Amino acid sequence: MKLLPKKIDFLATEEKWQHKWEEWSIYHFDWKDRSKPTFSIDTPPPYPSGEFHMGNVLNWTYFDIIARYKRMQGFNVYFPQGWDCHGLPTEVEAEKEYNVRKSELSPLEFRKLCENITEKYINIMKTAIKRLGCSNDWTTEYKTMNPNYWRRTQLSFIILHKKDFIYQGTHPVNWCPRCETAIADAEVEHITRQGTLHYVKFPLDDGNHLTIATTRPELLPACVVVAINPEDKRYQKYVGKKIKVPIANREVKIMADNMVDPQFGTGVVMICTYGDKADVKFVQKYHLPVITTLTETGKLNKKTGKYEGLSVDEAKKVIAKDLEIKGFLEKKKPTIQEVGTCWRCHTPIEILERKQWFMKTLQLTNKIVKNANEVVWYPEYAKNRLVDWAKSLDWDWVISRQRVFATPIPVWHCKNCGEAILAKEEWLPVDPKMTPPKIESCPKCGKNTNFIPEIDVLDTWMDSSITCAVHAGWPDKPEKEWHRLFPADLHPSGTDIIRTWAYYLMARHIALFNEKPYRSCLINGMVLGTDGRMMHKSLGNYVATTEVFEKYGADASRQWAAGGGTTGSDIPFRWPDVEYAWRFLIKLWNACRFTSLLLKDYRLAGVPKLTLLDKWLLARMNRAALRITEALEKRQFNVVMDEVRSFAWRDLCDNYIEAAKHRLYKGEVYGEEKRRAAQYTLYMALYRLLQLFAPIAPHITEEIYQIMFAEDMKYKSIHLSPWPQVKKQEIDKEAIRKGDLLVAVIGEIRREKARKRIPLNAEIKELTVYAGFRENANVLNKGAEDISGTCKIEKIGILPHEGEGVEVEGYPDIRFVGV
Ligand SMILES: [Zn+2]
Ligand SMILES: [Zn+2]
Repeated sequence: MKLLPKKIDFLATEEKWQHKWEEWSIYHFDWKDRSKPTFSIDTPPPYPSGEFHMGNVLNWTYFDIIARYKRMQGFNVYFPQGWDCHGLPTEVEAEKEYNVRKSELSPLEFRKLCENITEKYINIMKTAIKRLGCSNDWTTEYKTMNPNYWRRTQLSFIILHKKDFIYQGTHPVNWCPRCETAIADAEVEHITRQGTLHYVKFPLDDGNHLTIATTRPELLPACVVVAINPEDKRYQKYVGKKIKVPIANREVKIMADNMVDPQFGTGVVMICTYGDKADVKFVQKYHLPVITTLTETGKLNKKTGKYEGLSVDEAKKVIAKDLEIKGFLEKKKPTIQEVGTCWRCHTPIEILERKQWFMKTLQLTNKIVKNANEVVWYPEYAKNRLVDWAKSLDWDWVISRQRVFATPIPVWHCKNCGEAILAKEEWLPVDPKMTPPKIESCPKCGKNTNFIPEIDVLDTWMDSSITCAVHAGWPDKPEKEWHRLFPADLHPSGTDIIRTWAYYLMARHIALFNEKPYRSCLINGMVLGTDGRMMHKSLGNYVATTEVFEKYGADASRQWAAGGGTTGSDIPFRWPDVEYAWRFLIKLWNACRFTSLLLKDYRLAGVPKLTLLDKWLLARMNRAALRITEALEKRQFNVVMDEVRSFAWRDLCDNYIEAAKHRLYKGEVYGEEKRRAAQYTLYMALYRLLQLFAPIAPHITEEIYQIMFAEDMKYKSIHLSPWPQVKKQEIDKEAIRKGDLLVAVIGEIRREKARKRIPLNAEIKELTVYAGFRENANVLNKGAEDISGTCKIEKIGILPHEGEGVEVEGYPDIRFVGV
């Protein structure tokens, strides 16, 4: 065996292997290989933000571990990587970086700027994914902003339109006044904040008034009805009467409905178009008129008279003041209110009625729930997030957006009759703003007229919610072929995107193909900052990935990710964890270096006659392999990490190597056969350990494998070596039980030497072990040579009965004297 160098430069070694793996293309999915079962991973296409953060490190480590493990298990693993490029943040970034406003440029010119930024950011993130040592197949790389991907998104739109899943309509939608676009329910975040309840007097015809408590006096001009609960005796007599809306100077009707909570405020509410979803329900139920008083930028419009141009917040103050001056304000009271905000910019959203495109997702709820129940979830409880979310929705998914950097909707409208004209499949990809439809006349009215391009674009989730099919090769490969990789075997998702990505994937694939998109869902939690709060730049607890990589490298970072906590739970970033991981690598390296010295004259041959201690280590190794395999199957990465460390530190280094040194050093004293047995045992244990650790720490295990084992094992890479498969019944439990006893006695004698401040290599003249009973004595007699060899005992006596002396930890019957 070749000697391992004394020192290792982790960072240089990691980069070396990353280049080699790419050069060897060992992670390439082989479409032609039909001998192996396939395993497909629905890798998330990240948004190119320019930063691969610690949360990404956590995710990518999780599924790279699975990719590597499955590959070693003999699967033909499909591990693609793409980029989910479109979106508003890049538009904002482009405006800043190039100092332009998107309205000043043509959409084409502005798109180009967005693409430049995206390309730059992709490069940064791609470098980071490679730096983490991920085993993606880069030949699969795709970018959703490329027309070749538009083609797929647009095709899915057309298919769904033909299947009657997509419609255009004027409905209330969530609207972000800052982003100036419709957003879906999934993009609305609910926060609570301090607000003010304004108690406003609404005058009645008879000179009396009713008081309404509202946090939104600025919506008074949009009030269309006043409502009470039909059971509320205080107000029953007013039902059907008219009441005056202050400020607006209009009369509205008073009506009764169960939706009104008599406990809230005064029990009288105003229905405005629209303050919240309850207003929308009222309007739909009673066909009330809609008075829109807000613009798309969140300002009051001319229907509000003198308040036109004020922002919502400004209008709130001004109108409250006016109410007070005119005697309509009874009182003000602080309150805690729930507000929906835009998840991108955190601006409070409004509800506006706009013509939009929708996908009929509500009618899919039962199918989504049924399929979610058939998926294997890691952890199991994460399933409820998807199911609860699906059941909670009360609006269809609004899929159109008022943006530039997005996939165009492949539709034109007939100028004469308004008919929506869908692009034909063979026209795709198409930007209707650039290309007219290839038809002579309108298919509906027959007029040879102009066609107006659809200027709205698609929600970015429309791009990324077909990844399972796209990854598998749809629509370019024949159905049978892409179904080799579909449904995806593993869909990774974060707790924060279950209601978006995991949900939309379900909805879209079920609607498109009547099939679930993924068989299992692996959930990662969020990474918390060094102080236990959410990691965020503004909180000062942010740690950049590059900093961690430069200090401790990828293998240490990956151990932090794997060992940080249970799958699906939030994981704090702690420097000491990464440093501990890094120290483990050094210890592993040193142990391997030491082993390579002991094995320098060894080449793997048949199994020699093994001692009890050898059998013990190999049995423990098998048990670790079994436990690690089970943990990987359950996606319990922290359990894998614990098993690897405890086998490496405790069983192998602290116990076995110490207790086998005398045989390895002194073949002439203890016999060549016993030396070979120890060499064989060390060889096998170390090789297996490296294999079991390879999915988590791919670089160091490869480096050691290549130097010490590749010559014998012949696999080009440790990552192509077969996973150690162990059956439960193959584990030698007797060897573990007996070996544990022997190891405990050796350990206690060594600790006793330390307690008495005797050097470990000092000779002990005579030691007597009281084994308690015969069976223990038999075991210890078999290992007597190991005890005396390791503890430097000249004469050892093992007696089968009880006696006084130092007690062996864990074995109260066993004592010894003589140290
Ligand atoms: Zn926004
Ligand atoms: Zn027409």
